[in-house]
Amino acid sequence: MRLNRRLFMGTTLSAGAALAAPAVLGQGKPRVVVIGGGAGGATAARYLAADSAGAIEVTLVEANPVYTTCFFSNLYLGGFHAFEDLQHGYERLAAGGVTVVNDLATGVDRDARTVTLAGGQVLPWDRLVLSPGIDFAEGAVPGWSTADAEVMPHAYKAGPQTQLLKAQVEAMPQGGVFAMVAPPNPYRCPPGPYERISMVAHVLKGRNPTAKIMVLDPKENFSKKALFEEGWGRHYPGMVEWIGPDFGGGKVEVRPATMEVVVDGEVTKVDCCNVIPGQRAGAIAAAAGVTADSGWAPVEPDSMRSKADGNVWVLGDASAQGDMPKSGFSANSQAKVAAMAIRGELTGSRVFPARYTNTCWSLIAPEDGVKVGAAYEPTPEKIASVSSFISQTGEDAALRRATYEESLGWYAGITADMFG
Ligand SMILES: Cc1cc2nc3c(=O)[nH]c(=O)nc-3n(C[C@H](O)[C@H](O)[C@H](O)COP(=O)(O)OP(=O)(O)OC[C@H]3O[C@@H](n4cnc5c(N)ncnc54)[C@H](O)[C@@H]3O)c2cc1C
Repeated sequence: MRLNRRLFMGTTLSAGAALAAPAVLGQGKPRVVVIGGGAGGATAARYLAADSAGAIEVTLVEANPVYTTCFFSNLYLGGFHAFEDLQHGYERLAAGGVTVVNDLATGVDRDARTVTLAGGQVLPWDRLVLSPGIDFAEGAVPGWSTADAEVMPHAYKAGPQTQLLKAQVEAMPQGGVFAMVAPPNPYRCPPGPYERISMVAHVLKGRNPTAKIMVLDPKENFSKKALFEEGWGRHYPGMVEWIGPDFGGGKVEVRPATMEVVVDGEVTKVDCCNVIPGQRAGAIAAAAGVTADSGWAPVEPDSMRSKADGNVWVLGDASAQGDMPKSGFSANSQAKVAAMAIRGELTGSRVFPARYTNTCWSLIAPEDGVKVGAAYEPTPEKIASVSSFISQTGEDAALRRATYEESLGWYAGITADMFG
């Protein structure tokens, strides 16, 4: 669907914002500011700059000078990937025409159409793209706050936290206990916690085979459950204990000072505790006033345009869009749809109907890879899954190896697509 002016006016943007748009656009090159240089934001900035060939001024605001991918961070924990392999700079985006500003965005004024940065700079925009990822819902796990992440790491934003978790796993005493507090839905990367359990089990099997792993889970079900449970039984027999809500997995308190977890009133001393709390959209989305009570930002399914403001787009984990999982692949797919819609609106270029895809791979043990994925289309209510696939239990080793190798190719391809 081509986004023409009639359809643009038909979205939920305020009348004032809509009427202001042509006047601003008449003043020179349209300006797009993208906040967040991760999977969604880097892709959107890169595609906007490349495809508009200089017709749009694209500025990317990113707090960190180097991005560390969460995707494949579990493989780093498992010893299959170097930490440096997860890291990507913004030089190629800059070379491709994106103005990269390394600073934290602290405020958005949607009436004045400006973004304020921690360093004091004020950036004007005609269209704003928000892809800030997640923040943690404070109080989601009794006893834990982000200040405790140095003792009980989340490692759910990649970087030093991921390195800390790896060091803690490797330093566990023989026969020690690793605990994970798994998050409630919806959260970033549905299979991520369980791939992580597999990788921790792989490390412990090699260097600490009498250690135990406890997964405390508020959810009855989780992504690829049958595949993970089969894999844990086959590769790590007796090592992983999954405790779902029926057995207290949803009634967990942690005590970072004494390294204890309390499950339904019962206290257990642990040696390493990975707390992955409940999540919400990155704080700048709430500051911009585009989030709902759920903590996530509702968007139009055909474009990723914010339902709260027609001049703002929200991508990736921060968005409430429907059936797509919160994944890097999803964010990349959504960013391309958004970049096309924004470019069409600002330069009159052609806009094709939105199509979205996602695949999530997980490594269970060396060369034992599984995957789940789907294709999606916009409906009036949401982005809806239209076809899907998933690895099967009992698959042979050759197929699992091929699935793992496919995931290696995916990582190389998608990071090049995001960061150039
Ligand atoms: C352990 C783990 C494994 C995963 N594995 C996979 C996988 O195999 N495949 C997959 O597809 N996905 C995977 N994911 C999920 C994937 O990492 C996320 O879904 C994806 O990164 C979301 O992209 P995003 O653009 O929404 O946010 P992010 O990639 O997190 O990017 C957000 C960026 O915004 C910046 N930012 C935030 N606020 C501000 C601000 N106010 N000012 C400036 N900058 C700001 C942050 O610094 C960050 O760089 C995994 C996640 C985890 C935790």
